[in-house]
Amino acid sequence: SSTQACLENDISGTDNKGFKGHDMLAPFTAGWQSTDVDPLIIEKSEGSHVYDMQGRRYLDTLAGLWCTALGGNEPRLVDAATKQLNTLPFYHSFWNRTTKPSLDLAKELLDMFTAKKMAKAFFTNSGSEANDTQVKLVWYYNNALGRPNKKKFIARAKAYHGSTLISASLTGLPALHQNFDLPAPFVLHTDCPHYWRYHLPGETEEEFSTRLAKNLEDLILKEGPETIAAFIAEPVMGAGGVIPPPATYFDKIQAVVKKYDILFIADEVICAFGRLGTMFGSDKYNIKPDLVSLAKALSSAYMPIGAVLVSPEVSDVIHSQSNKLGSFSHGFTYSGHPVACAVALEAIKIYKERNMVERVNRISPKFQEGLKAFSDSPIIGEIRGIGLILATEFMNNKSPNDPFPPEWGVGAYFGAQCQKNGMLVRVAGDTIMMSPPFVVTPEELDELISIYGKALRETEKRVEELKSQ
Ligand code: PMP
Repeated sequence: SSTQACLENDISGTDNKGFKGHDMLAPFTAGWQSTDVDPLIIEKSEGSHVYDMQGRRYLDTLAGLWCTALGGNEPRLVDAATKQLNTLPFYHSFWNRTTKPSLDLAKELLDMFTAKKMAKAFFTNSGSEANDTQVKLVWYYNNALGRPNKKKFIARAKAYHGSTLISASLTGLPALHQNFDLPAPFVLHTDCPHYWRYHLPGETEEEFSTRLAKNLEDLILKEGPETIAAFIAEPVMGAGGVIPPPATYFDKIQAVVKKYDILFIADEVICAFGRLGTMFGSDKYNIKPDLVSLAKALSSAYMPIGAVLVSPEVSDVIHSQSNKLGSFSHGFTYSGHPVACAVALEAIKIYKERNMVERVNRISPKFQEGLKAFSDSPIIGEIRGIGLILATEFMNNKSPNDPFPPEWGVGAYFGAQCQKNGMLVRVAGDTIMMSPPFVVTPEELDELISIYGKALRETEKRVEELKSQ
């Protein structure tokens, strides 16, 4: 069975014996995994590397979960946290009371986001909370405007927007819906913009984008434009398989959304702060969002924090209607946590001082071209990516429609080979994903490409064996 194949290939805790059957209900982990296999226990980090309990060193090619942009040991972030902890470890932001770091961070984010003028920032603890907040903001906005029926959301198949009830509903991955009674009925999903997999014979990227925009428009018309409140998209899809948009996609989608007075939410949780070689994903694809979700690299993950940026059009309605609607009764104890905000402010200072966007542009060709050079492997269907984000998809006969039998565990086998050679990758079925820290060095990229090549050759051999059986 595929579970068996995964088990055989799962070497997560080879060196951390004695912890299987532990007490944690582990996120995104199968029951059999935590029961039968020792977990990999990470104890220390340094630059782009992490160390397990036995001191084994791994190149951490996903930067934690696409988030430790400044790597594992940036002392300035530690100092910023320590200083804030020593001054004011906590105060909240309810009832017009707040703290200076949260005000400063709000101002900083509004100044930085130039793709479209933003008027307000709301703070959360995570990307999921940011996207849940988006839904509540949009509903509140439409209630304020006296449009009680304009409440539906359109997201995309294979999107990842989080795992709370609402953000998991926006997510377009069956695994986050099955067994959880999701998605919620007000969420609709439109096409995944993956050209390689879904284009028709002879269809160009531009024609593919035109067709997807037409499908979106048809969906809106079928549901009734007066019922559709917002459209949400990641500039580059992340956890759904690293899918950069096809040419002209966002131009055409934005035209449709605008035509029907539908708000555009850019989920920049992975794409922001330089990952794509621009400060924000919206800059890369000329997206003019009404609302923006941020998290992850916002603090380089040293503290949990997320944010929502709100356009003047939306925030003006919310503010001007406050006499009628009362307070904006939404928020978290830790909204604008001063320590998280202080760390985020310092992370942003570092991104600017070290010209991180320029650094990503300088270093990413080595990453992209170094790995795309393996594209002719007989077991690789597609290698795709941009900036410092990339996915490899293993496919039979190089075809987008001919997967390997799941019980072969091809992706898991590749992941295990990487791990044996001192590198951690994100394995999702037969898709392998990477998003190294922005501070990854040319030497670390050489190491990454070399281990990838070794693991690939081993996996090719394995597939040949399985085919001949
Ligand atoms: N949006 C995107 C695009 C993400 O990649 C993620 C996390 N991978 C989230 C939202 C959810 O963020 P969190 O896990 O912090 O709730």
